[in-house]
Amino acid sequence: MIESEVCIIGAGPGGCSTAMFLAKMGIPSLLVDKATFPRDKICGDGLSGWVLSTLNKLDPEINYTFSKTPLQVPSWGARFIAPNLQTLDVPFKIHDAVNNNLPAGFVSKRVHFDNFLIEEVKKRDSISLLENTEITDLEYADNQVLLSDKNGNKIIKTKLVIFANGAYSKFSKKLANIHMEKRHYVAGIRSYYDGITGIHENNYIELHFLKDLLPGYFWIFPLPNGQANVGLGMRSDKISKKGINLKKMLYQLINHNSILKERFANAKEIDSPKGFGLPLGSKRRKISGDNYMLIGDAASLIDPFTGEGIGNAMASGMYAAIHAEKCLKANNFSAEFMKGYDQYTYGKLGKELQLSKAMQDLLNYPWLFSLIVNKAIKNKTLRETISSMLTDMEVREQLKKPSFYFKVLFG
Ligand SMILES: Cc1cc2nc3c(=O)[nH]c(=O)nc-3n(C[C@H](O)[C@H](O)[C@H](O)COP(=O)(O)OP(=O)(O)OC[C@H]3O[C@@H](n4cnc5c(N)ncnc54)[C@H](O)[C@@H]3O)c2cc1C
Repeated sequence: MIESEVCIIGAGPGGCSTAMFLAKMGIPSLLVDKATFPRDKICGDGLSGWVLSTLNKLDPEINYTFSKTPLQVPSWGARFIAPNLQTLDVPFKIHDAVNNNLPAGFVSKRVHFDNFLIEEVKKRDSISLLENTEITDLEYADNQVLLSDKNGNKIIKTKLVIFANGAYSKFSKKLANIHMEKRHYVAGIRSYYDGITGIHENNYIELHFLKDLLPGYFWIFPLPNGQANVGLGMRSDKISKKGINLKKMLYQLINHNSILKERFANAKEIDSPKGFGLPLGSKRRKISGDNYMLIGDAASLIDPFTGEGIGNAMASGMYAAIHAEKCLKANNFSAEFMKGYDQYTYGKLGKELQLSKAMQDLLNYPWLFSLIVNKAIKNKTLRETISSMLTDMEVREQLKKPSFYFKVLFG
Protein backbone atom coordinates (compact mmCIF):
# COMPACT_ATOMS: atom_id res chain seq x y z
CA MET A 1 0.00 0.00 0.00
CA ILE A 2 1.29 3.47 -0.93
CA GLU A 3 1.20 6.04 1.90
CA SER A 4 1.06 9.77 1.18
CA GLU A 5 -0.18 12.61 3.39
CA VAL A 6 -1.96 14.19 0.42
CA CYS A 7 -3.43 12.27 -2.51
CA ILE A 8 -5.04 13.85 -5.58
CA ILE A 9 -7.41 11.77 -7.70
CA GLY A 10 -7.46 12.96 -11.32
CA ALA A 11 -4.56 14.54 -13.20
CA GLY A 12 -6.50 16.91 -15.47
CA PRO A 13 -5.80 20.65 -15.22
CA GLY A 14 -7.34 20.80 -11.72
CA GLY A 15 -5.32 17.91 -10.31
CA CYS A 16 -2.06 19.01 -11.95
CA SER A 17 -2.53 22.54 -10.64
CA THR A 18 -3.13 21.26 -7.06
CA ALA A 19 -0.05 19.03 -7.17
CA MET A 20 2.16 21.79 -8.59
CA PHE A 21 1.02 24.41 -6.05
CA LEU A 22 1.67 21.87 -3.26
CA ALA A 23 5.12 21.24 -4.72
CA LYS A 24 5.77 24.98 -4.73
CA MET A 25 4.94 25.02 -0.99
CA GLY A 26 7.31 22.09 -0.41
CA ILE A 27 4.48 19.58 0.20
CA PRO A 28 4.84 16.16 -1.48
CA SER A 29 1.76 14.58 -3.05
CA LEU A 30 0.56 11.51 -4.89
CA LEU A 31 -1.27 12.29 -8.16
CA VAL A 32 -3.38 9.42 -9.55
CA ASP A 33 -5.18 9.10 -12.89
CA LYS A 34 -7.08 6.26 -14.50
CA ALA A 35 -5.68 7.25 -17.89
CA THR A 36 -2.19 7.07 -19.30
CA PHE A 37 -1.14 10.42 -20.77
CA PRO A 38 -1.42 11.79 -23.39
CA ARG A 39 -5.19 11.29 -23.25
CA ASP A 40 -8.06 13.19 -24.87
CA LYS A 41 -10.72 15.15 -22.98
CA ILE A 42 -13.90 16.36 -24.72
CA CYS A 43 -13.70 20.16 -24.48
CA GLY A 44 -13.87 23.38 -26.51
CA ASP A 45 -10.08 23.67 -25.98
CA GLY A 46 -10.33 27.39 -25.10
CA LEU A 47 -7.73 28.47 -22.51
CA SER A 48 -8.84 31.86 -21.24
CA GLY A 49 -7.01 34.53 -19.26
CA TRP A 50 -8.13 32.80 -16.04
CA VAL A 51 -5.97 29.78 -16.97
CA LEU A 52 -3.00 31.96 -17.82
CA SER A 53 -3.21 33.99 -14.62
CA THR A 54 -3.26 30.84 -12.43
CA LEU A 55 -0.30 29.37 -14.32
CA ASN A 56 1.42 32.70 -13.90
CA LYS A 57 1.02 32.47 -10.13
CA LEU A 58 2.58 29.04 -10.27
CA ASP A 59 5.47 30.03 -12.49
CA PRO A 60 5.40 32.58 -15.37
CA GLU A 61 7.90 30.36 -17.24
CA ILE A 62 5.14 27.79 -17.82
CA ASN A 63 3.02 30.19 -19.91
CA TYR A 64 6.08 31.37 -21.73
CA THR A 65 7.21 27.81 -22.54
CA PHE A 66 3.69 26.90 -23.71
CA SER A 67 3.49 29.98 -25.94
CA LYS A 68 6.65 28.78 -27.74
CA THR A 69 5.20 25.35 -28.57
CA PRO A 70 3.35 24.65 -31.83
CA LEU A 71 0.56 23.04 -29.77
CA GLN A 72 -1.47 26.24 -29.44
CA VAL A 73 -2.71 29.31 -31.26
CA PRO A 74 -2.82 32.62 -29.41
CA SER A 75 -6.33 34.09 -29.24
CA TRP A 76 -6.87 37.80 -28.84
CA GLY A 77 -10.63 38.12 -28.53
CA ALA A 78 -14.16 36.78 -28.83
CA ARG A 79 -16.66 37.11 -31.65
CA PHE A 80 -20.28 37.07 -30.46
CA ILE A 81 -23.01 36.26 -32.95
CA ALA A 82 -26.31 37.49 -31.50
CA PRO A 83 -29.70 35.78 -31.99
CA ASN A 84 -30.45 38.35 -34.74
CA LEU A 85 -27.17 37.18 -36.45
CA GLN A 86 -25.38 40.51 -35.90
CA THR A 87 -21.66 40.05 -35.15
CA LEU A 88 -19.76 41.78 -32.37
CA ASP A 89 -15.96 41.47 -32.06
CA VAL A 90 -14.63 42.05 -28.57
CA PRO A 91 -10.85 42.00 -27.97
CA PHE A 92 -9.77 40.40 -24.69
CA LYS A 93 -8.37 42.77 -22.10
CA ILE A 94 -5.01 41.45 -21.00
CA HIS A 95 -4.90 40.47 -17.33
CA ASP A 96 -2.52 42.72 -15.42
CA ALA A 97 -1.21 39.65 -13.66
CA VAL A 98 -0.15 38.08 -16.92
CA ASN A 99 3.08 38.95 -18.64
CA ASN A 100 2.22 41.44 -21.36
CA ASN A 101 4.32 39.67 -23.95
CA LEU A 102 1.81 36.84 -23.92
CA PRO A 103 -1.59 36.72 -25.60
CA ALA A 104 -4.80 37.03 -23.58
CA GLY A 105 -5.71 33.41 -24.24
CA PHE A 106 -4.78 30.25 -26.15
CA VAL A 107 -6.65 27.52 -27.96
CA SER A 108 -5.01 24.11 -27.73
CA LYS A 109 -6.33 20.58 -28.07
CA ARG A 110 -6.73 19.14 -24.60
CA VAL A 111 -4.77 16.06 -25.58
CA HIS A 112 -1.79 18.42 -25.97
CA PHE A 113 -2.43 20.95 -23.18
CA ASP A 114 -3.11 18.31 -20.51
CA ASN A 115 0.00 16.37 -21.55
CA PHE A 116 2.02 19.60 -21.42
CA LEU A 117 0.88 20.01 -17.79
CA ILE A 118 1.81 16.37 -17.05
CA GLU A 119 5.31 17.06 -18.40
CA GLU A 120 5.51 20.04 -16.00
CA VAL A 121 4.37 17.75 -13.16
CA LYS A 122 7.12 15.27 -14.03
CA LYS A 123 9.74 18.02 -13.58
CA ARG A 124 8.80 18.23 -9.87
CA ASP A 125 10.41 15.51 -7.74
CA SER A 126 7.96 15.90 -4.85
CA ILE A 127 5.01 14.77 -7.01
CA SER A 128 4.56 11.02 -7.50
CA LEU A 129 2.46 10.39 -10.59
CA LEU A 130 0.51 7.15 -10.80
CA GLU A 131 -1.16 6.60 -14.20
CA ASN A 132 -3.45 3.83 -15.39
CA THR A 133 -4.97 3.56 -11.90
CA GLU A 134 -8.70 4.03 -11.41
CA ILE A 135 -9.85 4.73 -7.87
CA THR A 136 -13.31 3.31 -7.34
CA ASP A 137 -13.94 3.31 -3.59
CA LEU A 138 -12.85 4.70 -0.27
CA GLU A 139 -13.20 3.85 3.38
CA TYR A 140 -12.20 5.61 6.59
CA ALA A 141 -9.83 3.96 9.10
CA ASP A 142 -8.15 5.68 12.09
CA ASN A 143 -8.86 9.20 10.81
CA GLN A 144 -7.25 8.32 7.50
CA VAL A 145 -8.63 7.29 4.13
CA LEU A 146 -8.01 4.04 2.30
CA LEU A 147 -8.52 4.19 -1.46
CA SER A 148 -9.30 1.10 -3.55
CA ASP A 149 -8.67 0.42 -7.22
CA LYS A 150 -11.11 -1.22 -9.63
CA ASN A 151 -9.97 -4.68 -8.59
CA GLY A 152 -11.09 -3.91 -5.04
CA ASN A 153 -7.52 -3.71 -3.71
CA LYS A 154 -6.83 -1.06 -1.10
CA ILE A 155 -3.81 0.58 -2.66
CA ILE A 156 -3.44 4.03 -1.04
CA LYS A 157 -3.52 5.32 2.53
CA THR A 158 -3.75 9.08 3.01
CA LYS A 159 -4.74 11.82 5.45
CA LEU A 160 -6.25 14.07 2.81
CA VAL A 161 -7.83 13.30 -0.57
CA ILE A 162 -8.42 15.96 -3.17
CA PHE A 163 -10.93 14.78 -5.75
CA ALA A 164 -10.14 16.30 -9.13
CA ASN A 165 -11.74 13.50 -11.10
CA GLY A 166 -14.04 15.54 -13.27
CA ALA A 167 -17.70 15.83 -14.19
CA TYR A 168 -18.64 12.20 -13.58
CA SER A 169 -17.06 11.94 -10.11
CA LYS A 170 -18.78 9.22 -8.10
CA PHE A 171 -17.16 10.65 -4.97
CA SER A 172 -18.91 14.02 -5.35
CA LYS A 173 -22.20 12.12 -5.25
CA LYS A 174 -21.28 9.68 -2.53
CA LEU A 175 -19.53 12.07 -0.14
CA ALA A 176 -20.99 15.53 -0.84
CA ASN A 177 -24.40 14.49 -2.21
CA ILE A 178 -23.87 16.42 -5.45
CA HIS A 179 -26.36 15.10 -7.99
CA MET A 180 -26.83 16.08 -11.61
CA GLU A 181 -29.53 18.79 -11.73
CA LYS A 182 -30.60 19.58 -15.27
CA ARG A 183 -31.02 23.32 -14.62
CA HIS A 184 -27.42 23.46 -13.45
CA TYR A 185 -25.90 21.18 -16.08
CA VAL A 186 -24.99 21.48 -19.75
CA ALA A 187 -24.50 18.69 -22.27
CA GLY A 188 -21.86 19.53 -24.87
CA ILE A 189 -20.52 17.92 -28.02
CA ARG A 190 -17.25 18.55 -29.76
CA SER A 191 -15.86 17.72 -33.18
CA TYR A 192 -12.76 18.79 -35.12
CA TYR A 193 -12.77 20.32 -38.62
CA ASP A 194 -10.14 21.35 -41.10
CA GLY A 195 -10.52 24.24 -43.55
CA ILE A 196 -13.39 26.37 -42.21
CA THR A 197 -13.29 29.80 -43.85
CA GLY A 198 -13.87 33.23 -42.30
CA ILE A 199 -11.83 32.72 -39.12
CA HIS A 200 -10.74 36.04 -37.52
CA GLU A 201 -7.10 36.90 -38.29
CA ASN A 202 -6.34 37.17 -34.56
CA ASN A 203 -7.94 33.80 -33.83
CA TYR A 204 -10.98 35.21 -32.05
CA ILE A 205 -13.05 32.42 -30.56
CA GLU A 206 -16.58 32.42 -32.00
CA LEU A 207 -19.70 32.05 -29.87
CA HIS A 208 -22.90 31.79 -31.92
CA PHE A 209 -25.92 32.47 -29.69
CA LEU A 210 -28.47 31.10 -32.15
CA LYS A 211 -32.15 31.32 -31.16
CA ASP A 212 -32.78 27.57 -31.07
CA LEU A 213 -29.84 26.93 -28.74
CA LEU A 214 -30.40 29.52 -26.02
CA PRO A 215 -29.18 29.69 -23.31
CA GLY A 216 -26.46 27.58 -24.96
CA TYR A 217 -24.37 28.29 -28.03
CA PHE A 218 -22.57 26.87 -31.08
CA TRP A 219 -18.84 27.54 -31.17
CA ILE A 220 -15.87 27.60 -33.54
CA PHE A 221 -12.49 27.85 -31.77
CA PRO A 222 -9.48 28.13 -34.14
CA LEU A 223 -6.62 25.65 -33.66
CA PRO A 224 -3.12 25.31 -35.15
CA ASN A 225 -2.70 24.12 -38.76
CA GLY A 226 -6.01 25.43 -40.09
CA GLN A 227 -8.04 23.17 -37.82
CA ALA A 228 -10.86 24.22 -35.49
CA ASN A 229 -12.77 22.85 -32.55
CA VAL A 230 -16.48 22.98 -33.42
CA GLY A 231 -19.26 22.16 -31.02
CA LEU A 232 -22.38 23.11 -29.22
CA GLY A 233 -23.65 23.04 -25.68
CA MET A 234 -27.13 23.39 -24.23
CA ARG A 235 -28.59 23.31 -20.74
CA SER A 236 -29.85 19.81 -20.03
CA ASP A 237 -33.36 20.93 -18.94
CA LYS A 238 -33.81 22.68 -22.33
CA ILE A 239 -32.55 19.60 -24.20
CA SER A 240 -35.13 17.43 -22.43
CA LYS A 241 -37.94 19.96 -22.86
CA LYS A 242 -37.32 20.44 -26.57
CA GLY A 243 -36.35 16.78 -27.23
CA ILE A 244 -33.11 17.84 -28.93
CA ASN A 245 -30.49 15.51 -30.38
CA LEU A 246 -27.25 17.53 -30.16
CA LYS A 247 -25.44 15.62 -32.89
CA LYS A 248 -28.29 16.12 -35.38
CA MET A 249 -28.52 19.77 -34.36
CA LEU A 250 -24.77 20.24 -34.98
CA TYR A 251 -24.95 18.81 -38.52
CA GLN A 252 -28.18 20.71 -39.18
CA LEU A 253 -26.41 24.00 -38.36
CA ILE A 254 -23.25 23.20 -40.31
CA ASN A 255 -25.11 22.02 -43.40
CA HIS A 256 -28.14 24.32 -43.46
CA ASN A 257 -27.56 27.54 -41.47
CA SER A 258 -27.36 30.30 -44.10
CA ILE A 259 -23.99 31.67 -42.86
CA LEU A 260 -22.34 28.53 -41.54
CA LYS A 261 -23.00 26.31 -44.57
CA GLU A 262 -20.86 28.59 -46.77
CA ARG A 263 -18.02 28.65 -44.25
CA PHE A 264 -18.08 24.84 -43.97
CA ALA A 265 -18.55 24.26 -47.73
CA ASN A 266 -14.99 22.93 -48.23
CA ALA A 267 -14.26 21.96 -44.63
CA LYS A 268 -13.49 18.35 -43.66
CA GLU A 269 -14.62 16.69 -40.46
CA ILE A 270 -11.53 15.14 -38.87
CA ASP A 271 -13.19 13.74 -35.75
CA SER A 272 -16.85 12.86 -35.33
CA PRO A 273 -18.88 14.62 -32.57
CA LYS A 274 -18.35 13.29 -29.05
CA GLY A 275 -20.29 14.35 -25.96
CA PHE A 276 -19.51 15.09 -22.32
CA GLY A 277 -21.20 16.80 -19.34
CA LEU A 278 -20.55 20.25 -17.88
CA PRO A 279 -21.59 20.64 -14.20
CA LEU A 280 -22.27 24.36 -13.78
CA GLY A 281 -21.41 26.54 -10.82
CA SER A 282 -24.81 28.27 -10.91
CA LYS A 283 -25.63 26.77 -7.51
CA ARG A 284 -23.47 26.78 -4.40
CA ARG A 285 -22.59 23.33 -3.09
CA LYS A 286 -20.81 21.66 -0.20
CA ILE A 287 -17.37 20.86 -1.62
CA SER A 288 -15.52 19.36 1.33
CA GLY A 289 -15.93 17.06 4.31
CA ASP A 290 -13.92 14.78 6.60
CA ASN A 291 -10.48 14.29 4.99
CA TYR A 292 -11.49 15.50 1.54
CA MET A 293 -11.94 18.47 -0.80
CA LEU A 294 -13.52 18.56 -4.26
CA ILE A 295 -12.09 20.74 -7.01
CA GLY A 296 -12.85 21.63 -10.63
CA ASP A 297 -15.67 19.77 -12.35
CA ALA A 298 -15.92 17.38 -9.41
CA ALA A 299 -17.00 20.47 -7.42
CA SER A 300 -19.31 21.81 -10.21
CA LEU A 301 -17.43 25.04 -10.81
CA ILE A 302 -17.99 25.62 -14.55
CA ASP A 303 -18.91 29.17 -15.61
CA PRO A 304 -22.68 29.10 -16.37
CA PHE A 305 -22.44 31.64 -19.21
CA THR A 306 -19.31 30.67 -21.13
CA GLY A 307 -19.00 26.98 -20.20
CA GLU A 308 -15.36 27.55 -19.23
CA GLY A 309 -14.14 25.24 -16.51
CA ILE A 310 -10.38 24.87 -16.93
CA GLY A 311 -9.60 28.20 -15.25
CA ASN A 312 -11.80 27.48 -12.21
CA ALA A 313 -10.47 23.91 -12.00
CA MET A 314 -6.92 25.27 -11.81
CA ALA A 315 -7.85 28.09 -9.41
CA SER A 316 -9.75 25.73 -7.08
CA GLY A 317 -6.69 23.45 -7.21
CA MET A 318 -4.61 26.36 -5.96
CA TYR A 319 -7.13 27.08 -3.13
CA ALA A 320 -7.17 23.37 -2.17
CA ALA A 321 -3.36 23.40 -1.97
CA ILE A 322 -3.45 26.49 0.26
CA HIS A 323 -5.99 24.80 2.53
CA ALA A 324 -4.09 21.50 2.52
CA GLU A 325 -1.07 23.33 3.95
CA LYS A 326 -3.26 24.66 6.79
CA CYS A 327 -4.66 21.15 7.48
CA LEU A 328 -1.18 19.64 7.64
CA LYS A 329 0.10 22.40 9.96
CA ALA A 330 -2.88 22.05 12.31
CA ASN A 331 -3.03 18.26 11.82
CA ASN A 332 -6.76 18.79 11.43
CA PHE A 333 -8.67 17.09 8.59
CA SER A 334 -12.15 17.35 10.11
CA ALA A 335 -15.21 18.42 8.10
CA GLU A 336 -15.48 21.48 10.35
CA PHE A 337 -11.91 22.60 9.57
CA MET A 338 -12.35 21.77 5.89
CA LYS A 339 -15.24 24.28 5.64
CA GLY A 340 -12.55 26.96 5.40
CA TYR A 341 -11.86 25.66 1.87
CA ASP A 342 -15.52 26.07 0.83
CA GLN A 343 -15.56 29.61 2.21
CA TYR A 344 -12.31 30.59 0.53
CA THR A 345 -13.25 29.06 -2.83
CA TYR A 346 -16.72 30.62 -3.00
CA GLY A 347 -15.27 33.86 -1.62
CA LYS A 348 -12.96 33.94 -4.65
CA LEU A 349 -15.21 32.46 -7.36
CA GLY A 350 -18.76 32.88 -6.03
CA LYS A 351 -19.33 36.43 -7.25
CA GLU A 352 -18.10 35.63 -10.75
CA LEU A 353 -20.28 32.52 -10.92
CA GLN A 354 -23.34 34.52 -9.81
CA LEU A 355 -22.69 37.20 -12.41
CA SER A 356 -22.27 34.57 -15.09
CA LYS A 357 -25.60 33.13 -14.01
CA ALA A 358 -27.08 36.63 -14.50
CA MET A 359 -25.59 36.65 -18.01
CA GLN A 360 -27.05 33.22 -18.67
CA ASP A 361 -30.46 34.56 -17.54
CA LEU A 362 -30.07 37.43 -19.99
CA LEU A 363 -30.16 34.84 -22.76
CA ASN A 364 -33.81 34.18 -21.81
CA TYR A 365 -34.42 37.54 -23.51
CA PRO A 366 -32.86 37.07 -26.99
CA TRP A 367 -34.23 40.45 -28.15
CA LEU A 368 -32.40 42.25 -25.33
CA PHE A 369 -29.18 40.36 -26.07
CA SER A 370 -29.50 41.24 -29.78
CA LEU A 371 -30.20 44.85 -28.91
CA ILE A 372 -27.07 45.11 -26.72
CA VAL A 373 -25.01 43.66 -29.57
CA ASN A 374 -26.57 46.07 -32.11
CA LYS A 375 -25.79 49.05 -29.89
CA ALA A 376 -22.26 47.83 -29.11
CA ILE A 377 -21.44 47.48 -32.82
CA LYS A 378 -22.08 51.23 -33.17
CA ASN A 379 -20.88 52.42 -29.78
CA LYS A 380 -17.17 52.18 -28.88
CA THR A 381 -17.70 52.88 -25.16
CA LEU A 382 -20.23 50.06 -24.83
CA ARG A 383 -17.86 47.75 -26.76
CA GLU A 384 -15.09 48.58 -24.32
CA THR A 385 -17.41 47.99 -21.37
CA ILE A 386 -18.28 44.53 -22.72
CA SER A 387 -14.59 43.82 -23.33
CA SER A 388 -13.87 44.70 -19.69
CA MET A 389 -16.79 42.55 -18.54
CA LEU A 390 -15.06 39.47 -19.92
CA THR A 391 -12.28 39.82 -17.38
CA ASP A 392 -13.23 42.44 -14.78
CA MET A 393 -15.79 41.45 -12.15
CA GLU A 394 -16.38 45.04 -10.98
CA VAL A 395 -17.46 46.00 -14.51
CA ARG A 396 -19.49 42.80 -14.91
CA GLU A 397 -21.45 43.83 -11.75
CA GLN A 398 -23.24 46.36 -14.01
CA LEU A 399 -25.20 43.48 -15.54
CA LYS A 400 -27.12 43.16 -12.30
CA LYS A 401 -28.20 46.81 -12.37
CA PRO A 402 -31.37 47.90 -14.24
CA SER A 403 -29.57 51.20 -14.95
CA PHE A 404 -27.16 49.37 -17.32
CA TYR A 405 -30.06 48.12 -19.50
CA PHE A 406 -31.81 51.51 -19.25
CA LYS A 407 -28.67 53.21 -20.62
CA VAL A 408 -28.34 50.63 -23.41
CA LEU A 409 -32.01 50.88 -24.37
CA PHE A 410 -32.37 54.64 -24.24
CA GLY A 411 -28.78 55.92 -24.21
C1 LIG B 1 -18.00 19.98 -24.80
C2 LIG B 1 -17.23 20.75 -23.75
C3 LIG B 1 -16.61 21.94 -24.08
C4 LIG B 1 -15.87 22.66 -23.12
N1 LIG B 1 -15.17 23.77 -23.50
C5 LIG B 1 -14.37 24.41 -22.61
C6 LIG B 1 -13.51 25.48 -23.04
O1 LIG B 1 -13.40 25.80 -24.22
N2 LIG B 1 -12.76 26.09 -22.08
C7 LIG B 1 -12.81 25.74 -20.77
O2 LIG B 1 -12.14 26.37 -19.94
N3 LIG B 1 -13.58 24.70 -20.37
C8 LIG B 1 -14.35 24.01 -21.25
N4 LIG B 1 -15.07 22.92 -20.84
C9 LIG B 1 -14.99 22.49 -19.44
C10 LIG B 1 -13.67 21.79 -19.15
O3 LIG B 1 -13.49 20.72 -20.06
C11 LIG B 1 -13.66 21.25 -17.71
O4 LIG B 1 -14.18 22.24 -16.85
C12 LIG B 1 -12.24 20.89 -17.25
O5 LIG B 1 -11.72 19.82 -18.00
C13 LIG B 1 -12.26 20.52 -15.76
O6 LIG B 1 -10.98 20.11 -15.36
P1 LIG B 1 -10.81 19.04 -14.17
O7 LIG B 1 -9.36 18.93 -13.93
O8 LIG B 1 -11.73 19.40 -13.05
O9 LIG B 1 -11.40 17.66 -14.76
P2 LIG B 1 -10.97 16.82 -16.05
O10 LIG B 1 -10.29 17.66 -17.03
O11 LIG B 1 -12.22 16.12 -16.48
O12 LIG B 1 -9.93 15.76 -15.49
C14 LIG B 1 -10.35 14.71 -14.67
C15 LIG B 1 -9.27 13.64 -14.66
O13 LIG B 1 -9.65 12.63 -13.70
C16 LIG B 1 -9.39 11.33 -14.22
N5 LIG B 1 -10.30 10.43 -13.51
C17 LIG B 1 -11.65 10.39 -13.58
N6 LIG B 1 -12.14 9.47 -12.73
C18 LIG B 1 -11.06 8.91 -12.12
C19 LIG B 1 -10.94 7.89 -11.15
N7 LIG B 1 -12.01 7.28 -10.62
N8 LIG B 1 -9.69 7.53 -10.75
C20 LIG B 1 -8.61 8.14 -11.26
N9 LIG B 1 -8.67 9.12 -12.19
C21 LIG B 1 -9.90 9.50 -12.61
C22 LIG B 1 -9.67 11.47 -15.70
O14 LIG B 1 -8.98 10.49 -16.45
C23 LIG B 1 -9.15 12.89 -15.99
O15 LIG B 1 -7.80 12.88 -16.39
C24 LIG B 1 -15.81 22.17 -21.78
C25 LIG B 1 -16.43 20.97 -21.44
C26 LIG B 1 -17.13 20.25 -22.41
C27 LIG B 1 -17.77 18.94 -22.04
